[in-house]
Amino acid sequence: MVKAVFLDRDGTLNYDPGYVHKVEDFKLLYGVIEGLRLLSKEFIFIVITNQSGIGRGIHTEKDMHKFNEKLVSELKKESVEIKKVYYCPHTPEELCKCRKPHTKYVMDAEKEFGIDIKKSWLIGDHPHDTEMGVKAGCKTIYLLTGHGKKHLDDLKKSEIKPDFIAKNFLEAAEFIVAQLND
Ligand SMILES: [Mg+2]
Ligand SMILES: [Zn+2]
Repeated sequence: MVKAVFLDRDGTLNYDPGYVHKVEDFKLLYGVIEGLRLLSKEFIFIVITNQSGIGRGIHTEKDMHKFNEKLVSELKKESVEIKKVYYCPHTPEELCKCRKPHTKYVMDAEKEFGIDIKKSWLIGDHPHDTEMGVKAGCKTIYLLTGHGKKHLDDLKKSEIKPDFIAKNFLEAAEFIVAQLND
């Protein structure tokens, strides 16, 4: 079995001005490459992203695929491999089963890649990321990048407790690596 880090996309890996979908707007956040390189010795990477901009008609599914390809190829240039990008194209009103905090894609990836969930981590900047990770049985890190600062109070009031709150991606990666050495 392999260990995975489940990654949110927007606000976690890349800058997000809101429903980001234009390749021209693609920009990795601080510490992402360095952090992923640190983690790549022990973990595979799976991206799980809510893309309700599709369901809302803000952009197309094709726009999202182009953006995802840009992300995957830019990371590949840095010798970082993303195994798969799972995405939910629905709006919250559609009440689908694939939108975070639903755990469907964690379970799909578990089967597809033979992942040991208990030894895996989730990194995301929104309480629904942390909630998905906790419900699925991973360890979780809440990031203060992206939407993280804005929703920190909501997270603190909720029953969802991340294992760690990190100020950026590199700090999150370093925390995970430190746990391995314990
Ligand atoms: Mg996000
Ligand atoms: Zn969905």
